[in-house]
Amino acid sequence: MRSEKIILHIDFNSFFASVEQQANPFLRGKAIAVAGKGKEAIDVHSIEKKGARVRVDNLPYMRSVITTASREAKAQGIKTAMATWEARRILPSLLIIPGDPRKYSEITSRMMTILRSYADAVEQFSADEAFADITCASGGDYLGATLLGERIRADIKRECGAYCTASIGISNNRLLSKLASESFKPNGFTVVPPEDALAFTASRPLQDFCGIGPRIVKRLESLGVTSIETLRSFPLSRLTHEFKSYGQFLFDAAHGRGSDLVSDDVRDPKSVGHSYTFPSNLLSHAEVRKNLLFLADRVASRMRKHGFASTHLTAYVRYEDFSGTGATKKFKEPICDGLEILENALKLLSPTIEVDRGIRLLGVTASGLTKLQGSFPLLHKESQTRKALRSLDKITARYGSGTWQRASTLSTEFKERVSGWHYDHEA
Ligand SMILES: [Mg+2]
Repeated sequence: MRSEKIILHIDFNSFFASVEQQANPFLRGKAIAVAGKGKEAIDVHSIEKKGARVRVDNLPYMRSVITTASREAKAQGIKTAMATWEARRILPSLLIIPGDPRKYSEITSRMMTILRSYADAVEQFSADEAFADITCASGGDYLGATLLGERIRADIKRECGAYCTASIGISNNRLLSKLASESFKPNGFTVVPPEDALAFTASRPLQDFCGIGPRIVKRLESLGVTSIETLRSFPLSRLTHEFKSYGQFLFDAAHGRGSDLVSDDVRDPKSVGHSYTFPSNLLSHAEVRKNLLFLADRVASRMRKHGFASTHLTAYVRYEDFSGTGATKKFKEPICDGLEILENALKLLSPTIEVDRGIRLLGVTASGLTKLQGSFPLLHKESQTRKALRSLDKITARYGSGTWQRASTLSTEFKERVSGWHYDHEA
């Protein structure tokens, strides 16, 4: 039976290590590993360099493990979860980098934002992995899905940097999509339409299936099962006899079937906000207005995308010396238009803002989200605005964010978003 859904799985390659290499060009092309207790690791490295003898058993770093190895390190035998001392023994030149969770979560949130700008539903699976339901977004066929996948790849490259590559898999369920994305690394792109599902699963080793761990593989081997094709020849009754409720999962997996449910974790957000730290401080009211409008439009379009309007608005500013002010306002009628958000944000900021102090950051957050009512307001002008917004949202949904821009924000500085964008309140 042909499933109607199209599911995309995305997985960054050597995630923490790639992010470090993206952030620091001197680490690129080198065998590096990100370790859990990195600070100690670096101290010991410098001690070792000075020729001191290091006792293996009494240093915390020796007990730390490698959380991610770069592709260059992997090629030389360094593996995830390997003890740092062991990795060093295998590859003395290995550079051990202290983990920096803030960097990684910034890249994760950029990936999630990109996926959400296209997909019907997005579910984060781990720090560097997510599932997206792209059934509607792709137009329901695999040509559309392939084009959409390519667009997501291009966005990841632009927003996260060329060194943070990800592998993508597309199929009609989660199991196959993950298997597909994992079948080609780095920077892979594997599409498995339903008619290829059986041949594709047969080409993959048992342990590559998400949910078939080393213990299950061992038990399967003891039954004489060493490939998916043998597993497929087992009747369901035999598998449920051997593996109880897990038997059904194994039976489905062998036939390339799996869940196609992607649970969207932004279905009911409490707030939607965007802030921006400027590359150089803003020094005029005109610049403040322009940049606020850009932020207001972002907030507004994201709210509308998820079918919300807001009853509360907060605007805030941070100065060069990191001090700042902000204010919140409550509305009787919920709002969801960027211009309206801008006008209110300006009103909120104008009593306190001191432009000549140099503005480092601006932020706008909409909260008190209520479900947007579909009916058009009676006033003609309002209805025209609604219609225009609806058309613009359609354009954004189809061609991606940044496709249209208000004329008054054309000269804003932050068209390139690789450095500095912070998406607040993603959950
Ligand atoms: Mg990964």
